[in-house]
Amino acid sequence: MTNSLPNQQQTEAQLQRTVEQLQLALSALDGFIYDYDMNTNHVERSEGLTRLLGYERETIPTTAEWWSSLTHPDDLAVFQLASSLGQAANDSYSYEYRVRHQDGQYIYVWDRAILIRDSSGNPMRLIGTTINITERKQAEERQRYLTNVSKILADSIEYETRLTDVARLTLTSMADWCVINMINDADQIYTAALAHRDPEKEQLLRELCDQYPINRAEADGTALVLRTGESQWYPIITDAMLQTERMDAHELALWKAIGYHSLMIVPLIWQSRVIGTCTMMLSGARRSYSLDDLGLVELVARRITIAIENARLYKAERIARAAAEQAAARAAFINETGGMLSTSLDYTERLNNLVHFTVPRFCDICVVFLCTADGSISRAAAAHADKEKETWLVQLQKLDPIDPRGLHPAADVIRTGQTSINPDVSASLGQILAMQMGVSSMAPKLIPRDQVIVPLVARQHVIGAIAFGMDASNREFSPEDIATAEILASRAALMIDNARLYQNQQEAVNVRDAFLLIASHELKTPLTAVLGQAQLLQQRFERSNTSTERDLRAIRVIVEQSHRLNKLISTLLDVSRLSQGQLQIIREPVNLNQLIQRVVGDFQPLLVQHTIAYQELDQQLLVNGDVVRLEQVLQNLLQNALKYSPQGGTISVTLESRGAQALITVSDKGIGIPKEAIPSLFQRFYRVHSGATQHMSGIGVGLYVVREIVTLHDGNIFVESTEGQGSSFMVALPLIQAEASAE
Ligand code: ADP
Repeated sequence: MTNSLPNQQQTEAQLQRTVEQLQLALSALDGFIYDYDMNTNHVERSEGLTRLLGYERETIPTTAEWWSSLTHPDDLAVFQLASSLGQAANDSYSYEYRVRHQDGQYIYVWDRAILIRDSSGNPMRLIGTTINITERKQAEERQRYLTNVSKILADSIEYETRLTDVARLTLTSMADWCVINMINDADQIYTAALAHRDPEKEQLLRELCDQYPINRAEADGTALVLRTGESQWYPIITDAMLQTERMDAHELALWKAIGYHSLMIVPLIWQSRVIGTCTMMLSGARRSYSLDDLGLVELVARRITIAIENARLYKAERIARAAAEQAAARAAFINETGGMLSTSLDYTERLNNLVHFTVPRFCDICVVFLCTADGSISRAAAAHADKEKETWLVQLQKLDPIDPRGLHPAADVIRTGQTSINPDVSASLGQILAMQMGVSSMAPKLIPRDQVIVPLVARQHVIGAIAFGMDASNREFSPEDIATAEILASRAALMIDNARLYQNQQEAVNVRDAFLLIASHELKTPLTAVLGQAQLLQQRFERSNTSTERDLRAIRVIVEQSHRLNKLISTLLDVSRLSQGQLQIIREPVNLNQLIQRVVGDFQPLLVQHTIAYQELDQQLLVNGDVVRLEQVLQNLLQNALKYSPQGGTISVTLESRGAQALITVSDKGIGIPKEAIPSLFQRFYRVHSGATQHMSGIGVGLYVVREIVTLHDGNIFVESTEGQGSSFMVALPLIQAEASAE
């Protein structure tokens, strides 16, 4: 002990010096030095304490407990640290924590202490410094807050949920409650996010926002920020400031419960436009907002605005892109249905393809209703995304006719000619339909959830309706979809109408052909008898001496005209046979040279104004054909050549071989054929209507029959003509090569 005394004195003197030096250093800092005697529980604190915490040194108890009573309840761990000193080699500590200022607010301090041991190594004193670090802490907190806000905003594009996170984040350091108001496209203010430190009070805050929305006419607060675009800062809100005339007791009670003390409202500004506000409130009296806080929140507001606008742009872009994609898909869909409707199938089959194409691409249910000739409505085609329900739909078609005057929505659309849009086809309608349908068990299950029925209109008549429905897919018809449905319906209506017209026309043609065939047959029999008898009579008259010239002329006319009539009927018979596919050719080798000579020879005696020139060919050309029909071809062409060159002149006939084909050409120098008539020349009943032909008789089937016969011979017929100068008809027939070369 004695040995230790000088040492102890030395140590104390050293300590005293150190303390003085420290005090000097601390006077420059905002802090104090303390010396805690662990044995006596006495604490000596230096002058700086008064500056730091506002307490007069003399009035302060010199115990360690006093200090712990000032320490923030969340930070009491510092005393555990202190009490653990001395264990092991743990002889110092450094800790940041909050202590209460005399004014009630907490400040941050940095406390560092070292343990002094006595000569035997037992803990004796604790000497430390406590320095005010509030400013640094607040700066750090702000920075952290700002970083976190940025992180949240960058995290997601769904800014609405992010705003709630931002509001919630303010609760850690910036506010006791926070509200973010936004202005929507309709220029209405709405609460985009809110948060309160106390979950129960958050409910009250929500109630306040819902029940007492921002009134733009208010002179201050959010209304003022929205009007001016300038932040409002109310470091302290007094009761008098809050209680305006318009505030009722309930609102006041809500405000009081939620709490208010210090307030900042900053605008969210984008391109000089206020798009919202951010309100932050400190509700306890321990702290008020400073200008630094306001600057920070303005910075946060700018970041929020940028995030919101980015999100909006992205959303707008996404919507535009989706809309463009949908429009392209719709156009492709319509295009494809167009192709489907123009196939050459029977129209009920086409409708069937159409409904099955539409489901499920466009909807879940599609039914085509058609008005029938007897005034009823039939289901012409139906498709359902659910195959079992499709079976029911098909059954429904058979079981249940639709009453055109009844309640069925399709009947209604057909009566009114108006598109019907039923976004929510109710169960009651299902019941009505079920009753109407008479098959109550399955009908309600076939009622769509969302339904559009479009009338099928052709030539200003409603010919039916097409219903599109949604079922399990949970899709809805957008206005664009309804437009698509109407385009589809107009195309379908056009297709059905054309197909029906064509069908009617075909039926009429069939009736006519059948009649023609029967009529020609019926005419042919008596005519053959008349002709036979007339020819006999002519021979008798010619042989008889008693016949007068008048008798002879008369009988000649009867025979001639009967021949003409016979030919006409034969042609009609040919036409009928051709249309019924009944004209047959009997093939045998035919010497074309001889055939032409024979036909031309037959014509020669009858010619008055014309001559027929045929230069006989040395080469014999043989075809495998029906000699009678080939004669008919040549006769027809020669008759036309004579008929359509009324001024007379030479008709030239040539025969030549062209490779594997024989080519017969009949040319005249007559009236010729207008260019535009040439493509239709070989159609049934086609005649050229011009000044030159108007007095020429004919029924327009000669060339049709010619072409059909030539085609049956695997040949071709062409025409070259110049109006006013003449025409050439060329018939190409396949040669029998072997025989032709042998000859
Ligand atoms: P038709 O002579 O009974 O009217 P066709 O079928 O033989 O019927 O001929 C169809 C049409 O072709 C005729 O109406 C006529 O206008 C035109 N035509 C046919 N051959 C000639 C020709 N050699 N010169 C000018 N026009 C012709």
